[in-house]
Amino acid sequence: MNRQPVLIVGAGPGGLCAALTLQKRGIRCLLVERVPEERLFADVGGGYDIGLNSLKMLDRLGVGDAVRQQGRKTAAVLSFTSNDVLYDRMTLPEDVDAVGVLRSTLQRILLDGLDPSMLRCDAKVVAVEPQHDGVTVTLHTGEQLHAEVLVGADGAHSAVRKATFPKDPPLHFCGLTCAWGRTPLDALPSVLADQMPALDHAISVTGPGRILLAGCPGDSWLWSAFWRTDRFTSSTSGSLRTVQQQFVDWGPRTTGLLHHADPDTVVKVGIFDRDPIPSWSAGRTIFIGDAAHPMTPFLGQGANSAMIDAFVLANLLADETPESAFSKFERRRKVPVEKNVASARSLARWMTTENRLSALAFRSMMRLVPSSLLLRAITSADHVNDVTDLIPKIPQPG
Ligand SMILES: Cc1cc2nc3c(=O)[nH]c(=O)nc-3n(C[C@H](O)[C@H](O)[C@H](O)COP(=O)(O)OP(=O)(O)OC[C@H]3O[C@@H](n4cnc5c(N)ncnc54)[C@H](O)[C@@H]3O)c2cc1C
Repeated sequence: MNRQPVLIVGAGPGGLCAALTLQKRGIRCLLVERVPEERLFADVGGGYDIGLNSLKMLDRLGVGDAVRQQGRKTAAVLSFTSNDVLYDRMTLPEDVDAVGVLRSTLQRILLDGLDPSMLRCDAKVVAVEPQHDGVTVTLHTGEQLHAEVLVGADGAHSAVRKATFPKDPPLHFCGLTCAWGRTPLDALPSVLADQMPALDHAISVTGPGRILLAGCPGDSWLWSAFWRTDRFTSSTSGSLRTVQQQFVDWGPRTTGLLHHADPDTVVKVGIFDRDPIPSWSAGRTIFIGDAAHPMTPFLGQGANSAMIDAFVLANLLADETPESAFSKFERRRKVPVEKNVASARSLARWMTTENRLSALAFRSMMRLVPSSLLLRAITSADHVNDVTDLIPKIPQPG
């Protein structure tokens, strides 16, 4: 049986960041990912706003500049009504280092820093069994791997979590369906391109029960469209048509972006989060990122939290026994991150309310509250990701 000190399941932002940090600290680990390597980067569409603290941490891992160069710094966020009336402009100060980047770009950058022997793709975990000296994991091929520590970084629908906490309540559906996709810049007719803001501006378009968010991290507008639904149906067929129908009565900025989108890039998901559970660990298994604390995307914190979890946990594992590392990790991260989960849930409710009066109240609040206060609200969610004390633990190259 293959034996590893640390086995990480899932090569999303959390898993990759954990592997890279362990590598920098000289700890051997193996990262297993269910999809084949060519599909790891073929995820169509999705992207993230990488925040100030994550960028500082990525700098120390040697990949921050690649993220800045291959993404795009966000200069301002413009808010429009569904019929394209601008009602708020939030300019981000020069010193706010926030970069929009495609998920696939971020994954490739993190992976490029990793010793290739540390990643095994096409390796889906199907069973997890605790042992007295660690955990045994079974892959879909029947192969078994043994680890002293197992890190579940396999996302919101985590198989490791289901196996570890079989009595866990199901994910909480937030009453929202989301589709994201890309509209290539060169697919936009000039009349529509003229209505779009500068490429370093993000936009949000809101109407009762629906919202469209868009930014341009590369050569396409990357948009996510959300609408209220009682339940989520997972069928992805005809997704672009479904989104277009949802927003058919909105202004040309939204309908145009959707009309000219590349249908092959559209992905439809349900928005789920979780109520807190007593612990993120059991025996020698611990969870990070969405596997521990899935949250709605409205605070822009999911991927940032996953990477910071990874960085904190990997540094603790390099210095302490697994028991002590797990307990210090949960003490540091659990309460503040779960507060962000709750804020992200209420923001999702507010920003997509179907009640016209509440929607109007939300827009008025956005208009009336000074940008500096709004900015403070957004950046305060990121305070929990401050890892300045741990950064010096990563040795500088040379
Ligand atoms: C529309 C939208 C916009 C978002 N925008 C932002 C944003 O701006 N900023 C932000 O910080 N966050 C954002 N998020 C949230 C973000 O996508 C997630 O929080 C983040 O991806 C979580 O990272 P993770 O590494 O924990 O898990 P994931 O990214 O879900 O990665 C899990 C990995 O595990 C693999 N896996 C799953 N099961 C198995 C198995 N059984 N065996 C092996 N491998 C497995 C999966 O293939 C995947 O590669 C957004 C989300 C959505 C839906």
